[in-house]
Amino acid sequence: MSQGTLFIVSAPSGAGKTSLVRELIERLDGIQVSVSHTTRKMRDGEVDGVNYHFTDVADFEAMIERGDFFEYANVFDNYYGTSRQAAQALLAAGQDVILEIDWQGAQQVRRQMPEAVSIFILPPSRAELERRLSSRGTDEHAVIARRMRDAISEMSHFDEYDYLVINDDFTTALSELESLVISRRLAQATMRERHAPLLEALLSQAPGVE
Ligand code: GDP
Ligand code: ADP
Ligand code: 5GP
Repeated sequence: MSQGTLFIVSAPSGAGKTSLVRELIERLDGIQVSVSHTTRKMRDGEVDGVNYHFTDVADFEAMIERGDFFEYANVFDNYYGTSRQAAQALLAAGQDVILEIDWQGAQQVRRQMPEAVSIFILPPSRAELERRLSSRGTDEHAVIARRMRDAISEMSHFDEYDYLVINDDFTTALSELESLVISRRLAQATMRERHAPLLEALLSQAPGVE
């Protein structure tokens, strides 16, 4: 079984990465999102083990000590991290895996896995980003203000990514993301591994064939 592809998706908070990724995995087979660990408070409607593995600082730091994280970072004063086990078991089983992580985590992942494909999602304007953060209704005013301030430094890392998607019209952005995953699956190196018997049959020198 060939190894799946690792996709890194980053965006400033509120740009729409969670909504886009959720729809993407509904539409495509063979792709899953890695569930991160975090020390931030659970939002209304979130479920432990589904949106995140919610944990406390002591447990998170114990996991750091044990080397359990593939990558981790401090974002908005909370820890967020991807456990090795979360991503690597899925990749080994041939699944494509999406990491929704910040730019610091993306840098750590690229160092360990240069073949990972990275995508940065941009909002169509600052005003729209602020509107989405507020209208989502999950965060207090001070939290939103903090996230808006950090958005500019997050976005300044856009040039470290392989692809940029602007999430203005949701459906357009979704089909652009989907195209990126599909085109990666059609890469020659991936296809020749997945379709080795077909290629062998097509190229074999059967008698009578010029
Ligand atoms: P949201 O992005 O507005 O939905 O807010 P969250 O509190 O869920 O996440 C805040 C930020 O933390 C996200 O924008 C991601 O960039 C980042 N993040 C989430 N999970 C991880 C992770 O496992 N590792 C790293 N490095 N960053 C993460
Ligand atoms: P993130 O995970 O990047 O923080 P979310 O996926 O939570 O962002 O999206 C933030 C808010 O913006 C949500 O309320 C979501 O429904 C909304 N949203 C996402 N994409 C669009 C879009 N293209 N147009 C309008 N609203 C959007
Ligand atoms: P609201 O912020 O009121 O929830 O959404 C305002 C508009 O943004 C919606 O009417 C919808 O067109 C668009 N929108 C917000 N979130 C999403 C989303 O997750 N998917 C889609 N398709 N549109 C969204």
